[in-house]
Amino acid sequence: MKKKILRMDNGKAVHDNQNSLTAGKNGPVLMQDVQLMEKLAHFNREEIPERIVHAKGAGAHGTFTVTNDITSYTKASIFSEVGKVTETFTRFSTVGGERGSADTARDPRGFATKFYTDEGNWDLVGNNTPVFFIRDPMKFPDFIHTQKPLPDSNLKSNETVWDFWSKTPESLHQITTLFSNRGTPDGYRHMNGYGSHTYSFINDKSERFWVKFHLKTMQGIKNLRADEATRLAGENPDYATQDLFEAIENGDFPKWKMYVQIMPESEAEGYRINPFDVTKVWPHGDYPLIEVGVLELDRNPKNYFAEVEQSAFSPTNKVPGIGFSPDKMLQGRLFSYPDAQRYRLGVNYNLLPINRPKIEVENGYRNGFMRFDDNGGNRPNYEPNSAGEPAEASETKEPPLGVCGDANRYGYDSDENSDFAQAGALYRVMPENEKEDLIGNLAYSMRGVDEEIIKTQLEYFYMADEDYARRLSIRLGIRR
Ligand code: NDP
Repeated sequence: MKKKILRMDNGKAVHDNQNSLTAGKNGPVLMQDVQLMEKLAHFNREEIPERIVHAKGAGAHGTFTVTNDITSYTKASIFSEVGKVTETFTRFSTVGGERGSADTARDPRGFATKFYTDEGNWDLVGNNTPVFFIRDPMKFPDFIHTQKPLPDSNLKSNETVWDFWSKTPESLHQITTLFSNRGTPDGYRHMNGYGSHTYSFINDKSERFWVKFHLKTMQGIKNLRADEATRLAGENPDYATQDLFEAIENGDFPKWKMYVQIMPESEAEGYRINPFDVTKVWPHGDYPLIEVGVLELDRNPKNYFAEVEQSAFSPTNKVPGIGFSPDKMLQGRLFSYPDAQRYRLGVNYNLLPINRPKIEVENGYRNGFMRFDDNGGNRPNYEPNSAGEPAEASETKEPPLGVCGDANRYGYDSDENSDFAQAGALYRVMPENEKEDLIGNLAYSMRGVDEEIIKTQLEYFYMADEDYARRLSIRLGIRR
């Protein structure tokens, strides 16, 4: 076979890739060494902006196979028949740390899957936790600032973290998960994934259902205790990345079973819990898990940058039969995710091979930086047009969603206990050894934090569960 020749970007063959072009043996390098200039200039531009959150991640290709019929709830073609297989790409991540940070940090884990369905791409962009710290997107940049280094010292600060949480009582439920051992999962294969937000399903009768997605690990839940996580952060900061890559390389393909919880549209109004509040779960006793299918990861990326770094997930990517909900955090993400991708990758990020739908996409979007396909050729770049295509698909219309009310900036109802009840329920679900680790992890994080902040926070723990607050107070050496 003919050897591939080393070439410059314009195709010119390179005859020497070891020595710069100089004026004489020891002379300065010549400007006309365009090969060197190109090489250095390209190298300078290898890094792109890292994600402001979820910067450190790992990913893999896979499949989703339907195992149970849910067509009475959704007409989404991905679920149209038992046995149907759809290609996927999944990216796992930590949230707060930079691209080089440790995989075992105490942090929620991102769990994002792109389903390349035959009706376009559907992204389920969730976490390994069913809830979140806040429920209004207005608070998101402030919250993330507390997870990042301080402006002066560039050091992370527990005081800042707890200061914000003490002023944000709805965070207690997520705090309880974060400081349990589920806040330090043993790699990405042994944790669950949750859509977290409430989404909607629409069936072929145009009926709407509210839906929560769950992906339960079939490897079993496995977590690290704090001391192990800390040790691994030093010994192998890429612990989870390596674990995922090697498992797949060895043919030990990780799997998750997808379930949904389904709420008929009309039940939302009277439900005792606001079903669009992402700081709350829907208890299984109220809305049991319904099996849907299996996600299996069976192929590693061949190129990390092209497939993992350039993968761009967004909850805006949905398909007919799947819709949004009034969840305010979800609504905020519908802006911020595609905005982040345009910033990171440019306006044509959906044309990148990893993000491109597997079906033909025809629309009037044209030009922009790095438009590297035929840019729509000479086909119409406006619609409607006399050619009659691309044509609107009116059959994919969603049923109308009734909304009313005065435009205002609304807080949530001040039923105080509602912010703490589920944190307490979670505490009580934990076996004794996990409770003990939770208390220890919290106390460790709160060491040295201002006493007033701790006192406020302890009130919240008390409202969640008396035993929870009592044990934490004792561990902190504070008498209530
Ligand atoms: P259930 O007893 O029906 O469910 C408890 C849930 O908690 C299970 O999904 C289980 O998931 C999960 N769980 C078990 N042990 C732990 C642990 N140590 N740390 C974190 N999660 C754990 O009760 P409810 O549905 O009424 O929920 C009770 C509490 O459980 C909630 O307040 C919430 O905090 C938590 N939870 C609820 C979920 C839901 O969607 N209803 C989902 C996840 C957590 P697993 O199979 O993964 O162990």
